[in-house]
Amino acid sequence: MNFNKSEELFNEAKKYIPGGVNSPVRAFQSVGMSSVFARRGNGSKIIDVDGNEFIDYICSWGPLVLGHSSEVITKGVEEVVKAGVTFGLATEIEVKIAKLITEACPSVEMVRMVNSGTEATMSALRLARGYTNRSKILKFEGCYHGHSDGLLVKSGSGTLTYGSSTSSGVSEDAIKNTLVAQYNDIETLNAVFKAHGNDLAAVIVEPVAGNMGVVPAKEEFLKIMRKLTEEYGALLIFDEVITGFRVSYGGAQEVYGIKPDLSCFGKIIGGGLPVGAFGGRREIMELLAPVGPVYQAGTLSGNPLAMHMGYNALTYLKDHPEVYTNMEEKANKLEEGFKKAIKEFKIDATVNRIKGMLNVFFTKGKVETFEDVSKCNTEIYAKYFKLMLDQGVLIAPSQFEAMFLSHAHTEEDIERTIAANREAMRQITE
Ligand code: PMP
Repeated sequence: MNFNKSEELFNEAKKYIPGGVNSPVRAFQSVGMSSVFARRGNGSKIIDVDGNEFIDYICSWGPLVLGHSSEVITKGVEEVVKAGVTFGLATEIEVKIAKLITEACPSVEMVRMVNSGTEATMSALRLARGYTNRSKILKFEGCYHGHSDGLLVKSGSGTLTYGSSTSSGVSEDAIKNTLVAQYNDIETLNAVFKAHGNDLAAVIVEPVAGNMGVVPAKEEFLKIMRKLTEEYGALLIFDEVITGFRVSYGGAQEVYGIKPDLSCFGKIIGGGLPVGAFGGRREIMELLAPVGPVYQAGTLSGNPLAMHMGYNALTYLKDHPEVYTNMEEKANKLEEGFKKAIKEFKIDATVNRIKGMLNVFFTKGKVETFEDVSKCNTEIYAKYFKLMLDQGVLIAPSQFEAMFLSHAHTEEDIERTIAANREAMRQITE
């Protein structure tokens, strides 16, 4: 397998685009490679510019729940293009998709469309602050909520801390109200509320963390979070940008049976076009402009193309619940296959899975917190990634990202992936 054309393009790209990419993880830096440039996608496969074909488990980092270039999703797009892709006026499809989302998630009585997950979480936090008249927020280490200033924070030393920023260019002022605690750590959660509960506008959490590998929240952790936020009058925000319409049609909130006050969405609800959304209880949502005092806006928000593809995706998922059982069955088979190889070759690795999301952590024992995740051997992961790629299987080029199943993955894909994994694990131990 050669990547000559990708390498050539990457060298050219670096002249005009910082790092050669428009989003950092596409640089494949953490596995010591040049970017792989995609040419086209078809079902579960990506074909790159060198003509290599891969079974794709990145799935555009989540949106491609029905696989690449799904006709279910692109159906009718030409008519939308001909009719006009943006008006700056309200359109009917916005009403239809908003209704669908509220029907899918009972906690979401009203929803506002934006253009990315970053915008969704940023706006949800502003709304939470507007609703509570409080400033502080709590997030968890290892959870990613987009790249707005106040959320690019990791915890400092100790478990309950005001954090430091993960990015330069973020002012101290922007993060001074962001508290950071350890994911899945109930003791610290209780301590945060004891010390700061009355000042907290919101707790924002990925109910299944998908940005430090896959780390599902313990049910008890979310339940206590719900109880404490109610008790102290802080809002609970579920960031379901990854999990929404993926772990089930009603998202992680349906899986866990917990009703957040606000929810953030993205990825799947745009069918692969740039989209985000946030929604929740009517009394909170009606604080948004133009009915309320919390300002939030967007020139291309709710644009007809993204709404059309998102609506196609969601209606299909609503009418085909078997998509979810099917993705889970395939992910379960992968999990079993991976675990078998880990045992056979006595590798220090753990597989985490929930529904159709999973990943292999190269570390011993359970992975439930960011601290556990941090112990992973990223050098072995880089080797594993390359061995998988050489066998035609594309997984995330970072230990700390999820593997996503789509409805388009076939039984043969799963068998091939299990075999590739066994071979990769064998070679790692050599
Ligand atoms: N929240 C979560 C949970 C995410 O995974 C992401 C992106 N991966 C975001 C927010 C930000 O979304 P976007 O990249 O669309 O801004």
